[in-house]
Amino acid sequence: MTVAPRTAAATGTPEFAVIGGGLVGWSIAYGLARQGRRVVVHDEGDLALRAARGNFGQVWVQDKGAGVPAYHQLTRDSAAQWVDLARGLRDASGIDAGLQQPGGFSFCLDTAAFDARARLMRRIQSEAGDFGFEFEMLDRGSLERRLSGGPALGPKVVGASYTPYDGHVNPLRLLRALYESAIALGATHRFGAPVEAVDPVVGGDGFEVRTTWGSAWVPQVVLAAGLGNERLARMVGIRCPVRPVRGQVLVTEKVQPVLSFPTADIRQTDEGGLLLGSSQEDAGFDDRVTIGNSGAIARRAVDTFPFIGGLRIVRSWAALRVMTPDGLPVYEASQTHPGAWVVSCHSGVTLAAAHVHGVAAAIARGRLPSQYAHCSAARFATAAPSAAVREAHVPQPA
Ligand SMILES: Cc1cc2nc3c(=O)[nH]c(=O)nc-3n(C[C@H](O)[C@H](O)[C@H](O)COP(=O)(O)OP(=O)(O)OC[C@H]3O[C@@H](n4cnc5c(N)ncnc54)[C@H](O)[C@@H]3O)c2cc1C
Repeated sequence: MTVAPRTAAATGTPEFAVIGGGLVGWSIAYGLARQGRRVVVHDEGDLALRAARGNFGQVWVQDKGAGVPAYHQLTRDSAAQWVDLARGLRDASGIDAGLQQPGGFSFCLDTAAFDARARLMRRIQSEAGDFGFEFEMLDRGSLERRLSGGPALGPKVVGASYTPYDGHVNPLRLLRALYESAIALGATHRFGAPVEAVDPVVGGDGFEVRTTWGSAWVPQVVLAAGLGNERLARMVGIRCPVRPVRGQVLVTEKVQPVLSFPTADIRQTDEGGLLLGSSQEDAGFDDRVTIGNSGAIARRAVDTFPFIGGLRIVRSWAALRVMTPDGLPVYEASQTHPGAWVVSCHSGVTLAAAHVHGVAAAIARGRLPSQYAHCSAARFATAAPSAAVREAHVPQPA
């Protein structure tokens, strides 16, 4: 068993170990490296459950944060910073994450859904106060005029909400770009060895990060292990009750550009395929594709745009979201073990800019500012589960 010397500054050994090489982990690692910090990322490897490799790729704002305006603002700020993030990643790594941010539509297939949507949008707007929130509720006629020249709408579509903040990226290129950019700034990684334990050293002198390969000492750790955070966070005195929420995604054959905007559940990638998704299912750790739910996703897509019914499905997958009981992120500094941090969320694409520019910079400074108070893990001591702030833009398939 090898243990590094406890003199990070003198020897150039990492100041931070980030546990988890998904979107959240690499966003934090890149953000720390941008602050001049030495970082090592530990990742479990290819057999792990990884939302970062199976998500829908949206920078999605429009229905986030009803009841928690600070979360809406966090999401909006991140979406607004995405242009800078994409530019920085392109400069550092040469990889274009493929950001397109034309605003997004959420289609309603019956009047009740349209009315509920309008209420949700009005609520977010009234709670936003001076921060403001622009949205439009478009009835079918207005929607047809807005989308004229685009694909015909299905007969069930009664209208849609639109906000100018939404967009989408290529999530795999995003992950690669974060990785390459962090590495270019000196970050290192250990892949293929799950972290078994993070042991606080007695006396507050950093942490032993124990893997199947051996252990290493670091002054600070950031737990960003997705669903693995539930177990690891307890080792540093933090409750992080994340659970899996399965989402299924279908991909069509490539076609000519036909959709110039993302909808809540359909988007066309820059390579031409249409992504149809993504359900929200309580299926435990089962990440298999099921015919019932993928059929419901396909049916809704065809109800929205009938031309999709003529396309071939070429691929499908399921992946597990990292969900807290109230749907809000967890950004926490350990009170009992200073130097340990926890970062978890279910919108790691949307919040990538906030994680790189805001959360990682705060961790580098050693303090989470009050703007993240709603993300404190302290709420789990008393908070009851709430559905008010869940990622509510995709209806649950039957
Ligand atoms: C179907 C689906 C659609 C989604 N769509 C969107 C979307 O459109 N927009 C959006 O913003 N978000 C979306 N998300 C959510 C987004 O993908 C996640 O928020 C993000 O990937 C979470 O990243 P993460 O790094 O926390 O977790 P993960 O991606 O799960 O990564 C966790 C990493 O930690 C590692 N790990 C775990 N345990 C250990 C351990 N003990 N030791 C070492 N390493 C460990 C794993 O190897 C893994 O690489 C979607 C998710 C799903 C599943």
